Amino acid sequence: MAVINEMEIRGVVVGTFQENCYIISSQQTKEAIIIDPGDEPERILEVAKDMGVNVKVIANSHGHGDHVMAISGIKQIHDIPFLIHNSEIPVLERSYQSMRDYLGDNLSDIPHPDGYVEDNGKVSVAGLDLHVIHTPGHTPGSVSYFVNGLLFSGDTLFRGSIGRTDLPGGSYEQIMEGITNKLLKLPDDTIVLPGHMLQTSIGEERNNNPFILDALRKKQDK
Ligand SMILES: [Zn+2]
Ligand SMILES: [Zn+2]
Repeated sequence: MAVINEMEIRGVVVGTFQENCYIISSQQTKEAIIIDPGDEPERILEVAKDMGVNVKVIANSHGHGDHVMAISGIKQIHDIPFLIHNSEIPVLERSYQSMRDYLGDNLSDIPHPDGYVEDNGKVSVAGLDLHVIHTPGHTPGSVSYFVNGLLFSGDTLFRGSIGRTDLPGGSYEQIMEGITNKLLKLPDDTIVLPGHMLQTSIGEERNNNPFILDALRKKQDK
């Protein structure tokens, strides 16, 4: 478990798509937020138990299947709200439909959101405030969450890459706009924890990410 700026953070890699679920808690209050519980609810809750934290809320970066499959399993055990951007409702519905086609009746319903996050808003538990940054482009309602020097970037920004923009509702222009105008405003030492693969930092991506270098070059040429 990493302890950074009085927060405790654990990543759990879940499911076929190797999605990174994160549990983040205030070291002081032990109240925790689960980000993107994509699959394997028992394992996620086992990690939370091991951390000795109280999970209070589920906050999602977006509604793709690989980020939402454990939500109902967690809610069956802990009656906690599930929050997401409201532009993700159609994405959630599509995810649900395709998973049902694939899994047949073995899938319990993906719950509807209990509330919505919006740009510049917050997701809070005692001692911990996640700041919501709307970064559409991978999906219309994709958000990133920033807290005390950490950025949870969902499928928007990856180490050396960016999220796919060829899925329904995706937009290459929008994703690059959000990354260059919002995420690159964060300090270089911001640790980036993406929805897949390894962690990185804003500085590393500013200097090495080929998509970002290309977008910045084009901006300069304008
Ligand atoms: Zn996705
Ligand atoms: Zn994903």
